[in-house]
Amino acid sequence: MKQARKTPGRDRGQYSKAGGLGMWGVYRRPGKLPSDWRRWLPSPERYYRARVDRLGKPNGKGWAQGRCPLHDDSHESLSVNFQHGGWRCFAGCGCGDMVSFHERLTGKGFAEAARDLVEGRQ
Ligand SMILES: [Zn+2]
Repeated sequence: MKQARKTPGRDRGQYSKAGGLGMWGVYRRPGKLPSDWRRWLPSPERYYRARVDRLGKPNGKGWAQGRCPLHDDSHESLSVNFQHGGWRCFAGCGCGDMVSFHERLTGKGFAEAARDLVEGRQ
Protein backbone atom coordinates (compact mmCIF):
# COMPACT_ATOMS: atom_id res chain seq x y z
CA MET A 1 0.00 0.00 0.00
CA LYS A 2 3.01 2.24 0.14
CA GLN A 3 4.37 2.07 -3.34
CA ALA A 4 5.98 5.19 -4.72
CA ARG A 5 3.63 7.62 -6.34
CA LYS A 6 3.96 7.92 -10.05
CA THR A 7 2.03 10.91 -11.17
CA PRO A 8 4.14 12.79 -13.68
CA GLY A 9 2.43 15.60 -15.48
CA ARG A 10 -0.30 16.06 -12.93
CA ASP A 11 -2.04 19.38 -12.79
CA ARG A 12 -0.39 21.47 -10.10
CA GLY A 13 -3.13 24.05 -10.34
CA GLN A 14 -5.53 21.53 -8.91
CA TYR A 15 -3.27 21.00 -5.97
CA SER A 16 -3.15 24.62 -5.01
CA LYS A 17 -6.94 24.79 -5.17
CA ALA A 18 -7.29 21.63 -3.13
CA GLY A 19 -6.12 23.26 0.09
CA GLY A 20 -8.70 22.93 2.82
CA LEU A 21 -11.67 20.75 2.10
CA GLY A 22 -11.97 21.29 -1.63
CA MET A 23 -13.81 18.54 -3.45
CA TRP A 24 -13.01 16.20 -0.62
CA GLY A 25 -16.08 17.34 1.24
CA VAL A 26 -18.26 16.00 -1.57
CA TYR A 27 -16.84 12.52 -1.32
CA ARG A 28 -16.32 12.38 2.38
CA ARG A 29 -17.51 9.31 4.19
CA PRO A 30 -16.58 8.42 7.73
CA GLY A 31 -13.55 6.17 7.69
CA LYS A 32 -13.46 5.97 3.93
CA LEU A 33 -11.22 7.64 1.40
CA PRO A 34 -12.29 8.29 -2.17
CA SER A 35 -10.45 6.20 -4.72
CA ASP A 36 -8.76 9.27 -6.15
CA TRP A 37 -7.79 10.73 -2.77
CA ARG A 38 -4.14 11.12 -3.79
CA ARG A 39 -5.21 13.88 -6.14
CA TRP A 40 -6.08 15.98 -3.11
CA LEU A 41 -2.78 15.70 -1.29
CA PRO A 42 -1.00 19.00 -0.65
CA SER A 43 2.03 19.94 -2.71
CA PRO A 44 5.02 17.97 -1.39
CA GLU A 45 7.14 21.11 -1.20
CA ARG A 46 4.62 22.93 0.94
CA TYR A 47 4.14 19.92 3.17
CA TYR A 48 7.81 19.21 3.76
CA ARG A 49 8.89 22.84 4.09
CA ALA A 50 6.54 23.15 7.04
CA ARG A 51 8.13 20.18 8.80
CA VAL A 52 11.72 19.68 7.74
CA ASP A 53 14.32 21.95 9.25
CA ARG A 54 17.07 23.38 7.01
CA LEU A 55 15.44 22.03 3.88
CA GLY A 56 17.58 23.05 0.94
CA LYS A 57 16.94 23.60 -2.74
CA PRO A 58 15.82 20.62 -4.81
CA ASN A 59 18.15 19.13 -7.39
CA GLY A 60 17.14 18.52 -11.00
CA LYS A 61 15.08 15.51 -10.01
CA GLY A 62 13.25 17.31 -7.25
CA TRP A 63 15.16 15.94 -4.27
CA ALA A 64 16.05 18.29 -1.42
CA GLN A 65 17.91 17.58 1.81
CA GLY A 66 17.03 18.63 5.31
CA ARG A 67 17.14 17.57 8.93
CA CYS A 68 15.07 14.50 9.57
CA PRO A 69 12.30 15.16 12.13
CA LEU A 70 11.86 11.41 12.65
CA HIS A 71 15.09 11.09 14.59
CA ASP A 72 17.51 13.37 16.41
CA ASP A 73 19.27 14.52 13.28
CA SER A 74 22.43 16.58 13.49
CA HIS A 75 23.01 16.62 9.72
CA GLU A 76 20.71 16.81 6.75
CA SER A 77 20.01 13.09 6.57
CA LEU A 78 16.59 13.33 5.04
CA SER A 79 15.91 13.57 1.32
CA VAL A 80 12.43 14.53 0.21
CA ASN A 81 11.12 14.83 -3.30
CA PHE A 82 9.07 17.88 -4.26
CA GLN A 83 7.79 16.23 -7.42
CA HIS A 84 6.29 12.99 -6.18
CA GLY A 85 6.44 13.45 -2.40
CA GLY A 86 8.74 10.52 -1.66
CA TRP A 87 11.21 10.63 1.21
CA ARG A 88 14.26 8.73 2.40
CA CYS A 89 16.27 9.10 5.58
CA PHE A 90 19.87 8.03 5.16
CA ALA A 91 20.29 7.62 8.91
CA GLY A 92 17.93 4.65 8.94
CA CYS A 93 14.39 5.96 9.45
CA GLY A 94 13.37 4.36 6.18
CA CYS A 95 11.65 5.70 3.13
CA GLY A 96 8.19 6.03 1.68
CA ASP A 97 5.66 8.49 0.38
CA MET A 98 4.17 11.63 1.90
CA VAL A 99 1.44 9.73 3.72
CA SER A 100 3.87 7.31 5.32
CA PHE A 101 5.98 10.27 6.39
CA HIS A 102 2.94 11.84 8.04
CA GLU A 103 2.15 8.52 9.71
CA ARG A 104 5.63 8.33 11.17
CA LEU A 105 5.65 11.95 12.22
CA THR A 106 2.27 11.92 13.92
CA GLY A 107 1.98 8.28 15.00
CA LYS A 108 -1.36 8.02 13.21
CA GLY A 109 -2.56 5.13 11.11
CA PHE A 110 -2.59 5.22 7.34
CA ALA A 111 -6.21 6.27 6.81
CA GLU A 112 -6.10 8.96 9.45
CA ALA A 113 -2.80 10.33 8.19
CA ALA A 114 -4.09 10.39 4.62
CA ARG A 115 -7.22 12.19 5.72
CA ASP A 116 -5.13 14.81 7.56
CA LEU A 117 -3.26 15.58 4.38
CA VAL A 118 -6.24 15.55 2.08
CA GLU A 119 -8.23 17.84 4.36
CA GLY A 120 -5.31 20.21 4.77
CA ARG A 121 -5.24 19.56 8.51
CA GLN A 122 -1.51 19.57 8.75
ZN1 LIG B 1 15.70 10.00 10.17
